[in-house]
Amino acid sequence: MSDSVIAPPPMVTVPVVGGGHFPVRRVYCVGRNYADHAREMGADPSREPPFFFSKPRDALTLSSEVPYPPATSDLHHEVELVLALKAGGSNLSPDHTPDLIYGAAPGVDLTRRDLQAIAKKSGRPWDMAKGFDASAPIGMITRGASVDAGSISLSVNGQVRQSGDLDQMTWSAAEILSHLSSLVTLEPGDLIFTGTPAGVGPLVVGDQVDVQIAGLTPLSFTLADRSPQ
Ligand code: MN
Repeated sequence: MSDSVIAPPPMVTVPVVGGGHFPVRRVYCVGRNYADHAREMGADPSREPPFFFSKPRDALTLSSEVPYPPATSDLHHEVELVLALKAGGSNLSPDHTPDLIYGAAPGVDLTRRDLQAIAKKSGRPWDMAKGFDASAPIGMITRGASVDAGSISLSVNGQVRQSGDLDQMTWSAAEILSHLSSLVTLEPGDLIFTGTPAGVGPLVVGDQVDVQIAGLTPLSFTLADRSPQ
């Protein structure tokens, strides 16, 4: 018998193509990892070291209906390859980090762009711009997926808004994991959103979002009215 004083929060898992569930420990995200997106955000796309932020693991959602969040009028889509780790470590060389990768999934880093702009301007944290409820739609994990090259795209209502290739990432999957492992100890169960190509833009209630990444099962969802609390 557990002696938890409240009901334990549910485990967060992501289904794996072919069967089984991947249990999630932490969710990390890389900022500005495609030069053309860095430029569209007004940043210098030079190869400065990658920077990271986090989302709570229960921000992940597998639902085909994602609620439009409160406190924003500028919700943006960012299509991203998501790495799923089967092993961890710290201070790892990029030669060794590919061995950590279990597989990959398609994901969307939903962003309250208006709150992020205020946070940037005032030097405040990004948490409420990035880590709100249901801010991380994710699809199924494909074991052994290719993470170094392949098309990545996002359409809204059938129109392509973001289109690129994983080989355009400023920092490769191996390099991202190496950098991140110098900041925190990586563990099995960690997910890493690896950044978005250009073309980010606003979503409105009713929009149908379709994500395709080469070799992965597509991810689709609709932006729904906020569910009554
Ligand atoms: Mn992002």
